[in-house]
Amino acid sequence: MAGTSALSMPLEKPRMPVIRERGQREVFCGLTGIVWMHRKIQDAFFLVVGSRTCAHLIQSAAGVMIFAEPRFATAIIDERDLAGLADVNEELDREVTRLLQRRPDIRLLFLVGSCPSEVIKLDLGRAAERLTERFLPDVRVLNYSGSGIETTFTQGEDACLAALVPEMPKPATVEGKRSLLVVGALADVVEDQFRSLFEQLEIGPVDFLPPRRSNELAAVGPETRYILAQPFLSDTAHALEERGARRIAAPFPLGEEGTTAWLKAIADEWNIPSVHFERVTKPARTRAKTAIRHYVEALEGKRIFFFPDSQLEIPLARMLSRELGMELIEVGTPYLHREHLAEEFALLPENTQISEGQDVEKQLDRCHAAQPDIVVCGLGLANPLEADGLTTKWSIELLFTPIQGYEQAGDCAALFARPLARRRKLEV
Ligand code: SF4
Repeated sequence: MAGTSALSMPLEKPRMPVIRERGQREVFCGLTGIVWMHRKIQDAFFLVVGSRTCAHLIQSAAGVMIFAEPRFATAIIDERDLAGLADVNEELDREVTRLLQRRPDIRLLFLVGSCPSEVIKLDLGRAAERLTERFLPDVRVLNYSGSGIETTFTQGEDACLAALVPEMPKPATVEGKRSLLVVGALADVVEDQFRSLFEQLEIGPVDFLPPRRSNELAAVGPETRYILAQPFLSDTAHALEERGARRIAAPFPLGEEGTTAWLKAIADEWNIPSVHFERVTKPARTRAKTAIRHYVEALEGKRIFFFPDSQLEIPLARMLSRELGMELIEVGTPYLHREHLAEEFALLPENTQISEGQDVEKQLDRCHAAQPDIVVCGLGLANPLEADGLTTKWSIELLFTPIQGYEQAGDCAALFARPLARRRKLEV
């Protein structure tokens, strides 16, 4: 494992101390993203080219689906492949052919790279090109890496969406109409709520990335204004900007305040009058505030410590401190994207202790010393911390549960109130 180093430097405006660490980390790999991505693009299939370990990870993260036809699988690289005794490309082509014959509903196939496929230097980009040639027009084959080397689990979604960007068509005309692209996988119910609000606000045309079906990929060009719905999509943002799209800067749509600021940034880009914005959003804002208020008593004044895992930590910390009165002890995040998070930093309490990267032993020492009321962390740390008497929240649940938007603001708060209530009951 890498050596450790730590340095502390402040983030300007507002000033915030940042601990930067590189050492042993406790994170899941990018394959995990398949668990929520396969539900989003309904005619896509994710074929992991990996080991039995990769297959176990996906199956245990997704739960075993006995009755459904799953939309993901693992093509196992075995000892013969690793020893160079078999032609892995031939085997892969054979497996893909078999899969596509059995599943004619598949229109988009992702070959997902893993640590083993990278170790044997299997060129999945070339394999995807070769297979696309063979299976077009029925099936397009793309590839991305979900490997665990130097990544964190939400990067799988970023890599997957970035792989889709080159497939997005150009607008029909150079002087196209301004359009909105919402970037980041959202639960269908959340997407429908946002669509309805955009319609009432008279903002459009609106598309989402990823789309629900692979043939619904939006056109992208200089008239595209995109907004991130998730804070971990730096590669996708970069790819969209290469196509001329411009980002609308905003906090992320978590909590009543975050959702309002996110929608307002879009509304301002479309020059929607404030009065109209207020009128359209007011009922949902009121509902969100009421739902959140329900959890203030349980969470106000409680001290929270975030280990770096999902990359949602900074927007969540902002919501929990500003809307629920929680006290932030340390907000760890695997990576700090200063540009995409600038509006979030502006809302965090001054002098919030941020940490970027991880040296897990040192961070555990800080956590134990602080004795927070609740710790947000990955599955690997949750059990030992619980055994030490700390209350934990699994960060991966924040990806599996719809938490964005007004109608989910209460559910998001509930995710943090529940472990505290459970701990109280156990103590009685
Ligand atoms: Fe493990 Fe790497 Fe496979 Fe992820 S991609 S399950 S880290 S071997």
